[in-house]
Amino acid sequence: MSLSLYTLIEASFPDDRSRMALEAPDRAHGPREWSFDRLASMAARYAAFFAGLGLKPGDRVALQAEKSPEALGVYLACLRGGFVFLPMNTAYRTDEIDYLVGDAEPALVICDPSAETALREIAARRGTPHVLTLDADAHGSFIDVVLKVRDALPPAVCAANDLAAILYTSGTTGKPKGAMLSHGNLAANGIALRDAWRFTEDDVLLHALPIFHAHGLFVACHCALLSGAKMIWQQKFDRADVIRELPRATAFMGVPTFYTRLLAGDDFNRDLVRHMRLFTSGSAPLLAETFDEFRARTGHAILERYGMTETGMNTSNPYDGERRAGTVGFPLPGVEVRVVSGEGELLGNGEIGGLQVRGPNVFAGYWRMPEKSAEEFTQDGWFRTGDVAMIDADGYVHLVGRAKDLIISGGFNVYPKEIEELVDEMPEVLESAIVGVPHADFGEAGVAVVVLRPGQALDEATLVGRLKERIANFKVPKRAFFVESLPRNTMGKVQKNLLRNDYKDACR
Ligand code: AMP
Repeated sequence: MSLSLYTLIEASFPDDRSRMALEAPDRAHGPREWSFDRLASMAARYAAFFAGLGLKPGDRVALQAEKSPEALGVYLACLRGGFVFLPMNTAYRTDEIDYLVGDAEPALVICDPSAETALREIAARRGTPHVLTLDADAHGSFIDVVLKVRDALPPAVCAANDLAAILYTSGTTGKPKGAMLSHGNLAANGIALRDAWRFTEDDVLLHALPIFHAHGLFVACHCALLSGAKMIWQQKFDRADVIRELPRATAFMGVPTFYTRLLAGDDFNRDLVRHMRLFTSGSAPLLAETFDEFRARTGHAILERYGMTETGMNTSNPYDGERRAGTVGFPLPGVEVRVVSGEGELLGNGEIGGLQVRGPNVFAGYWRMPEKSAEEFTQDGWFRTGDVAMIDADGYVHLVGRAKDLIISGGFNVYPKEIEELVDEMPEVLESAIVGVPHADFGEAGVAVVVLRPGQALDEATLVGRLKERIANFKVPKRAFFVESLPRNTMGKVQKNLLRNDYKDACR
């Protein structure tokens, strides 16, 4: 491909580019609207500004700012000019930013005005020449300078494997690694999703996800931008705001927590979502209970899909056809998936093993970590996802857990998900997490961390006793602890590394 993802995006805009592409809240003045034409000219001006600063294709532009159309403009300008976009989680603290800036060596950092002093100090130390600011309402030194730019940078000619973005992985598994995503990776996945989920310019996507993560930035924005659909942006997920805007939308994408929160009140009902055609879920497992309750309440089967920063989306439940609760569906067109044993042997349907993927969506490797990158790929080019999975007789992929979450107790493998499901079935239990902790005798043992439903009571001995009746002893958690809530990262994933640390002495 000799075109950039940007060129592909612009080519997908509606013929009438005065149509609205994006509506975003402005806390001071009411909603702000952006036509496709305005998005394109914003990208062209921002890209001209970056080039004027001396940035060359391949240079990194780091952004840690609140969600705003201008932040999207920075992303689009990078795609247009061949610069590499580096979004940073708004929750990152100084030390995390320091690490990322040191690792990625951006030529420009754009940050919230409140972080400017810290960023200037980091940039000076790390050799980043430019620091500018941008807030949620289009104020900041970045806006002051780009408003004066009248030039438009023509779209760069990019090869499919030219770098488009570096996304640092979410950190549920140790030190952040920069996943290098090319124009070809993002284009292939964006087109696959747009087509699989039938996005057209008649769609209106209600977008409540953050845009520093692959889910909100790539999955959501690319579906809309590559089909000429409109997006209604919300600053963050706020139940009342989503309920208010849903009647104007046709599609919504969420992490499972969004759905459990929506279901928490009777005002979320069939009538409210009668214009909707699609709800998707991903980034963390959607409980079958949530899927069922959602369908009973609204008539919609949430479409669950599976992917990761390094690969974009790999599998999806079908648009037409049965969406099966507790599964992540089938490989997307162009994507191959397989399940292998610890020894690398191909496993058959129904067998549990490591999930590997191959396809145009799979990233080029981790930034400046050639050995680590090589380790993650097999000789024949399959990426080891680190997820443990099973493919059933009908071809649906089931995720069983993360390889890292796997507990090996007395030499036996325990898959946390299996135990969590049993604990979650108990009527007193809202949700649970099973983590492996050091055990004097077995090497490792499972510990259950459990959140009870309001007003319910359950004690450790009863919980353990019930499990002993249902599963082999080696699978039964050795201890159970009851907590108010499970720690989750911004994408709704349970942070098992924190739990492992909290309970590390529980079984010594
Ligand atoms: P991230 O790179 O932050 O998007 O995290 C990717 C990881 O999230 C995957 O490797 C999975 O472990 C998990 N994940 C993504 N989608 C799902 C899903 N639908 N169900 C369960 N886990 C998921």
